[in-house]
Amino acid sequence: MKLSSRGVARLQGRHPWVYRSDITEEKDVPPGSVVRVHDPRGKFLGTALYSSSSQIAIRMISHGSVPDLPALVAERIRAAIAYRKELVRNTDAYRIVFSEADFLPGLIVDRYNDVLTVQILTQAMDAAPVRKAIVRTLAELLCPAAAGLRPAGQVRAPAPTSEWAITEAPQLAGIVERVEARIRELEQLPPLESRLLWGEKSSTEFRMNGVRFHYDGLEGQKTGAFLDQRENYAAAAEYAHGEALDAFCYQGGFALHLALHPAAKCSSVTGVDSSRPALEMAEKNAALNGRELEWIEANAFDLLREYAAAGRRYDTIVLDPPAFAKTKRDLEKALGGYKELNLRAMKMLRPGGILVTCSCSFHVGAADFLGVVADAARDAHKSLRLVENRGAAKDHPILLNVPETSYLQCLILSVSN
Ligand code: SAH
Repeated sequence: MKLSSRGVARLQGRHPWVYRSDITEEKDVPPGSVVRVHDPRGKFLGTALYSSSSQIAIRMISHGSVPDLPALVAERIRAAIAYRKELVRNTDAYRIVFSEADFLPGLIVDRYNDVLTVQILTQAMDAAPVRKAIVRTLAELLCPAAAGLRPAGQVRAPAPTSEWAITEAPQLAGIVERVEARIRELEQLPPLESRLLWGEKSSTEFRMNGVRFHYDGLEGQKTGAFLDQRENYAAAAEYAHGEALDAFCYQGGFALHLALHPAAKCSSVTGVDSSRPALEMAEKNAALNGRELEWIEANAFDLLREYAAAGRRYDTIVLDPPAFAKTKRDLEKALGGYKELNLRAMKMLRPGGILVTCSCSFHVGAADFLGVVADAARDAHKSLRLVENRGAAKDHPILLNVPETSYLQCLILSVSN
């Protein structure tokens, strides 16, 4: 497969993606195949995974030859786990493999205590020998007591070993594949149901920063917490105090930390979300920790407006809305949304109050987000000090030169008048 000089420049810039428009020569390449990539003069550049349907036609997997893709995938998974052992603390839930950022484009693996979830996002990762290598490697590394590979439903509860112990978690008891129908459709892959791939357990409890959560890998709605916010939950707890409001609380990630983390000094915590099932799970999570909190089902924009008009005040507000900019075209509108939310929150915060404000829109860059929060402060007639400027937890690595791996912003600010 040959690339245009623009495609070559992208690879030389250490970005693994080449778009279809930069492929100048492709001869009968089957979907999902491993391809050797050349520059316009025929010089070998490395090996990539090909997609016949995505606009991202190839994703580089090596700058050399790849004679055995399943073996390379196994080696990379091993390296990803070793990397987490260095970096991850205070949790038994974290991302084990983050696609391009772990040099495994199209594969995401999350750990929730003794249950893993696997997401396969591309044709190449979906190939049967690759799938087999993924499951076998995860099971062998994380459940060494279960000798050999047994299909789903046939693993007896294994004895604990220290292999898997970033905390004192037990060994792996199940691997679930979570399927997003739309992604398979876009990759022109046959439909699949989410299901158990290995072991017998698909739901469990996990802990982050000492706070407990339920997880069910086969529930319709994703459960648990947002793993990328794990370190931000603990950071927010360091400064949180007084009356606290978590405006897009989902299943309680921030709210529970504000209420339960030993560093947090909150007198009350209220969680708001527009999704009833999310709040029901938040309530169950609180109960798992032996606590009851206030959960309000509402549109956060309306509620903040109403509360502000009624003169309600808080000492801590967390804003972690869904991505407002799903595409570049949404950017202006998204910035408007972030500004409005932050402005309302700033007006409701008492002097000395803490604002934890997040954006998970990749299209809203770090500078854009800081800019919009600064604009909100100007309009709110408040001075804010930036206490911490944070991103995703370390188990979601940012690969330099691959901006797509950096998508989460989390600012912790202290409000003055
Ligand atoms: N902070 C959460 C994650 C939030 S995800 C955590 O760390 O776990 C975004 C949440 O916003 C989702 O739960 C979604 O249901 C909720 N949401 C989306 N639009 C909303 C709105 N207008 N008002 C309130 N909640 C909303």
